[in-house]
Amino acid sequence: MSSWKRLRTAGAVVLGAILSLTPFLRYRWGAPHPTAHMDHEPRHGGVLGMVGDHHLEIVRAGGRVECHPSDAHRLPIEPIGGRVECEGGEVIAAAAGGSRLVAPDRCPTNEVTCHVLLNDGMTLRMSAAVPPSAFIKDETAAR
Ligand SMILES: [Zn+2]
Repeated sequence: MSSWKRLRTAGAVVLGAILSLTPFLRYRWGAPHPTAHMDHEPRHGGVLGMVGDHHLEIVRAGGRVECHPSDAHRLPIEPIGGRVECEGGEVIAAAAGGSRLVAPDRCPTNEVTCHVLLNDGMTLRMSAAVPPSAFIKDETAAR
């Protein structure tokens, strides 16, 4: 093997390593996942579930219940309204703000249900056991 050919091979190996790292870095930085339903990590310290082809993450922190809808690729969706329902049936009106729905947390147990209305008329509904936490993990909420 000539020396220039060896150099080209080494360059190709380095380039390949950089390209193979890129999807991992995108994932770590919270970018939408390129493949649908390959990313089921909670982004806000809550509990993530699938609702049809969408995802919903329920967070209980700082006296609030937050419902974070996202699409199949985990791209956040802006809700237009909705409500939170406690185990036992109490319904709490929720306000849409950015890509989440927020309601005061008055649920007596861990079981909460988010009803998230999207602007295409679809309602995402998910129930989960989410223990209340004293801290908000979402950096946008902490500002
Ligand atoms: Zn999924």
